[in-house]
Amino acid sequence: MLFKLIPKKIVSQNIIDFIRFHYNKDFGKLKDVIKVDIKKGLFLKIKKGSRVGRKELLRLLKKNHERISQDKIRKIKTLWYRNEIKILKTIKNITGIKISIKKITCYLDPYTKLGFYGKNHISLSTNIKLKDVLFVIAHELFHIFYWRKIKKLSLKMNKEKEWILSEITVYLLQKQPEMKRFWPKSKIYLYPELKKVYKLIKRNWKPNEFNNFLIKSYYSLK
Ligand SMILES: [Zn+2]
Repeated sequence: MLFKLIPKKIVSQNIIDFIRFHYNKDFGKLKDVIKVDIKKGLFLKIKKGSRVGRKELLRLLKKNHERISQDKIRKIKTLWYRNEIKILKTIKNITGIKISIKKITCYLDPYTKLGFYGKNHISLSTNIKLKDVLFVIAHELFHIFYWRKIKKLSLKMNKEKEWILSEITVYLLQKQPEMKRFWPKSKIYLYPELKKVYKLIKRNWKPNEFNNFLIKSYYSLK
């Protein structure tokens, strides 16, 4: 997997998706997760999905240059490359999903404290602690291949529920003892609003029966 500095366009898209679809705390807490000085007016425009807000954010980002220390970049790469094969193998053992990282780019993002995924790329915040780096990379990578799997199995349900199940699945996976040894000190986090569905779904989870888990869960959520 290649590591590159994140382009501003992708930072902007990540921040917009996050604010529009995943951020439900009040404006004051935004600075805990996003390091760009977004004023309340702009925040509200983005939340509404306004095109003006989109342009304004990109302009703001173009004026803002956060640096990443070479030392941090080196540490992140070393950590990942040292564990890459083992992590991907463990995911394959548990889920049967073969993650091929050849065409995936990991963008290093000094502008947020978040992880994101796109079609062929993930974004990793360089403001997180080293102990969480493997956890976040594996999380975002798994999302990409999870969606490819869902497509292959032709599973369909409403978008909101699909998203909830994808998060719960990654959560269940990352909690497995064979996985936890890669991130023993990371807090494995589930969005509080997903806890109810989690209770319903977790009984479907059996190691090495991943396709069945997905199919059963799609049925029980439909
Ligand atoms: Zn996620």
